[in-house]
Amino acid sequence: MTDTKTTETRTFEADVSRLLHMMVHSVYSDRDVFLRELISNAADACEKLRFEAITRPELLGEDAKPRITISADPDNKQLSVEDNGIGMGRDEMAEALGTIARSGTRAFIERVEAGKATEDSQLIGQFGVGFYSAFMVADHVDVISRQAGSEEAWRWSSDGKGTYEIAPVPLAASPKRGTRVVLHLMEDATSYTTPYRLEGLAKSQSGHVPVPIALVEKPG
Ligand code: ADP
Ligand code: MG
Repeated sequence: MTDTKTTETRTFEADVSRLLHMMVHSVYSDRDVFLRELISNAADACEKLRFEAITRPELLGEDAKPRITISADPDNKQLSVEDNGIGMGRDEMAEALGTIARSGTRAFIERVEAGKATEDSQLIGQFGVGFYSAFMVADHVDVISRQAGSEEAWRWSSDGKGTYEIAPVPLAASPKRGTRVVLHLMEDATSYTTPYRLEGLAKSQSGHVPVPIALVEKPG
């Protein structure tokens, strides 16, 4: 049996590694889409919680209103997207952020590798490879999550180069409920901590999202 109390290193499924390689080498001209993908996942997580809470209202606790918070930390070259949605446990993280569930994804990867879809950034979302687009702008990504109703929190962490780690984190270091995705931005992507840029992107790409989005700048 696996020891769940310590850091565990796992290898990405082969197709994920291929996909990440594509992301890192930016086959897409439009890197901006990473924000749309993270916001869309955050909104999905809020929607999943709302649905679960129909039969288990106690999951909402004191914090019934869904929200997404984008925090920019220019000094540390970090950007995070946090939600108070359903969250992920250890096994959900390994499944959702280490494998590709969608059957069409392999065909998609082959198309891109053959040079047939280089311009079509829309495909990223359609093929359900949204989360991995974070590696277009970040050389390291941490996902800290606490599942609704759980007394444990976990951190998934990766540089996108073949492996990821999953480790327990103290509850004080995680959202009370939901998920925080922390991007350690690449040197050439630090402008994504500029508030007006983030605001512009959130408005233009995610204006239709049914969850309120707040933008916070961490003081230097
Ligand atoms: P898709 O959203 O199409 O399923 P993604 O690559 O964007 O594909 O996300 C993969 C999976 O990771 C999601 O289906 C979900 O299970 C999980 N996930 C990603 N972000 C979050 C989040 N903020 N909260 C909860 N689960 C998430
Ligand atoms: Mg998604």
